[in-house]
Amino acid sequence: MDADIIIVGAGPSGLCLAQSLSGQGISVVLVEAQTQSSLAQPEFDGREIALTQHSVALLKDLGLWSQLAAQDLSPLRDAKIMNGLSPCNLLISHKWGSHPELGWLVSNHLIRKAAYDCVLASQNKNGDIQLISGQRVARLSTQAEQVEVTLDNGTHLTARLVVSADSRFSSTRRMMGIPAQMHDFGKNMLVCCMSHEQPHDHVAWEWFDFGQTLALLPMNPDPTTGMNRSSVVITLPSEGIDQLMQAEVADFEIQVRQRFHDRLGSMHLLSTRHNYPLVGVYPERLTALRYAAVGDAAVGMHPVTAHGFNFGLLGIEALSKGLLQAHQAGHDVGNARTLAHYNRQHQMATRPLYLLTRWLTDLYTHESVPGKLLRETLLRVAQNWSPIKKAIARSLTGNGHLHQRGRLF
Ligand SMILES: Cc1cc2nc3c(=O)[nH]c(=O)nc-3n(C[C@H](O)[C@H](O)[C@H](O)COP(=O)(O)OP(=O)(O)OC[C@H]3O[C@@H](n4cnc5c(N)ncnc54)[C@H](O)[C@@H]3O)c2cc1C
Repeated sequence: MDADIIIVGAGPSGLCLAQSLSGQGISVVLVEAQTQSSLAQPEFDGREIALTQHSVALLKDLGLWSQLAAQDLSPLRDAKIMNGLSPCNLLISHKWGSHPELGWLVSNHLIRKAAYDCVLASQNKNGDIQLISGQRVARLSTQAEQVEVTLDNGTHLTARLVVSADSRFSSTRRMMGIPAQMHDFGKNMLVCCMSHEQPHDHVAWEWFDFGQTLALLPMNPDPTTGMNRSSVVITLPSEGIDQLMQAEVADFEIQVRQRFHDRLGSMHLLSTRHNYPLVGVYPERLTALRYAAVGDAAVGMHPVTAHGFNFGLLGIEALSKGLLQAHQAGHDVGNARTLAHYNRQHQMATRPLYLLTRWLTDLYTHESVPGKLLRETLLRVAQNWSPIKKAIARSLTGNGHLHQRGRLF
């Protein structure tokens, strides 16, 4: 046996899972298609990840949080949901929770770098993680006694369990023959970092405007100029996004300013622009014989509710807890009971919000007159009914999830 567990994909989820298992007597082989140098120095990819307080606690336990510089952690104090030009806004305040902020914003590439550095340190300290980079999984089969994986270069690996952490379009989940519901939202999302004249007061915006959806994720001021800075997110049909991607910088800045109805004053592009097609993915099941899926391979969320990686961490918490319990009890880490428990627990934690997000996204991008009226009515009901606001605040902070203080994994 080459290892107890083979994890496919060293994105944030695969790295965090490996890190959560290290030092516990379980050996891991992590297989990643990207080269070692792109893992060590991940490039900016436009994503600012809104992390719940629960995720922050998990990242602290994993040792990742302390790897991030204070200036790279932007507090997300409140969130505002807007509908068209309606004066009625739904404000989700941090006051509904127990922290001075709802959550934190951190760039995805910095999370990846922190996770990689932690895994490298654990590899050196515990010697229980083997990282194979620059290789994809070519073949995968699971049998009663073991898992067999063949890499592109012909390397043959065996283990007790294989875990897919290879994105929402996971090729290894497909090799296991697991069907997945895929919902193409028919839109693309452009993300980039911009400076702007008006302050954001660390309030995130989700603006369901007519014909476009805009979001503003408040970042710390630009370290060199001190200017207000945010991650700008624009959702449009692909043609509109292609046009914005190709626009000259000065023209792009004018167009974005106009799209925000000048509410932020003049705006300047500070980063590269990134384009993501929006496809939600939910597999029929998250486990099979000696197999589990985590991260986006388990739940591919629409980014609008900022739950993708938060759900990823939640799944890693649940799976690693089960695997460690099995290992400590002297059981096989690929045992069916542990996997069935993880499947149930993570589906229960994620499926309702996955479906609700789909429904709300469809409703809030619907341009018919009855659709617009329903959008406004729902927003007003939510604005005037605190249980809804509290429930949204709980979902954004991640409170309500099982969380034992002390060591989580
Ligand atoms: C615009 C945008 C905004 C977002 N905002 C938020 C947010 O605010 N909050 C939040 O929680 N989430 C957010 N998300 C979601 C978040 O980015 C993802 O949930 C997270 O990055 C998924 O990590 P992962 O490791 O599961 O998958 P990925 O990041 O997709 O990593 C998969 C890894 O597997 C590797 N791989 C793929 N196939 C193979 C193979 N066959 N063999 C070996 N390796 C392979 C890839 O190279 C990659 O490194 C956002 C997403 C987008 C697109």
